[in-house]
Amino acid sequence: MIAVLKHGTTPEQTDHLIAWLKRMNLDVHISHGAEVTILGLIGDTSRVDMELLGSLEIVEAVKRVSEPFKQANRKFHPDDTVIEVGDVKIGGGNFVMMAGPCSVESEEQIIEIAKAVKASGANILRGGAFKPRTSPYAFQGMQGKGIELLLKAKAETGLPIVTEIMNISTLDLFADIDIIQVGARNMQNFDLLKELGKINKPILLKRGLANTLQELLMSAEYIMSEGNENVILCERGIRTFETATRNTLDLSAVSVLHDLSHLPVIVDPSHATGKAKLVPPMAAAATAAGADGLIIEVHNNPACALCDGAQSLTPAQFDELSKRVAKVREAIV
Ligand code: PEP
Ligand code: MN
Repeated sequence: MIAVLKHGTTPEQTDHLIAWLKRMNLDVHISHGAEVTILGLIGDTSRVDMELLGSLEIVEAVKRVSEPFKQANRKFHPDDTVIEVGDVKIGGGNFVMMAGPCSVESEEQIIEIAKAVKASGANILRGGAFKPRTSPYAFQGMQGKGIELLLKAKAETGLPIVTEIMNISTLDLFADIDIIQVGARNMQNFDLLKELGKINKPILLKRGLANTLQELLMSAEYIMSEGNENVILCERGIRTFETATRNTLDLSAVSVLHDLSHLPVIVDPSHATGKAKLVPPMAAAATAAGADGLIIEVHNNPACALCDGAQSLTPAQFDELSKRVAKVREAIV
């Protein structure tokens, strides 16, 4: 981090500022120019309040020259992180296919879908039990009963389970769940993130509707700084002025995140587009862009789905998608 001091700052004021910075365990490199003095802050600047420093009378500007996230940063961890869930590996060249309904609706529904997606190559079953819905009048999910049914589907098929947590008070219900999802709406629920940092399970962290990639990585940092390094990042579309799709899929996020971080990055083309027809081409594109996996909504009867039917593929459509993705993978490796 560098701080540019205003023209006319006295040596006493400069010394005073340097002493303050040193009290934060930073080393300070001073460079006196003809017009301005520049202070180079060396050490862990992640705790420095940039706004506070920039608001000081004698400070002209403050700029970060390195990223504020450390544990998620590829600079300090050059090798890809590989997350293991049972026999499934995610990241470092291992591709994961998560699939299943938006919401668990009944035992028959989840088991039928689980068997179908497994037969088409999915290696993780998704399904929401606690659903964050825009309307309080919409179906809120089967909650604890939904978790039970997911575990039945796991017992029937052997597929590990990913499902969303909305409130830390329900954590006990997730004891046998393999991957805990933090949805877009909770990406900056810092208390939730910190608690999930204290457990050992992989966390699927979805990008918020209006969050930058740096904010996503800072949220990963909240989990990792508490000790849980098993974080999978997910690009699921962001809100833009475009209305033709539910969100706008930011595919460049895959490359940007891979550059900045060692964590696996998967893509959710279902929530990104909101339209079943657009899911297969965007799944292929995400695969070609180097994503470490996909998460796809699949329903045995999309027209009657209690949630997100319009973006849900039938099992047959998912089977096609899976073959298309396999061809893309062959072409790029
Ligand atoms: C989901 O995956 O079911 C979901 C609600 O997604 P998002 O948080 O990305 O909207
Ligand atoms: Mn959904």
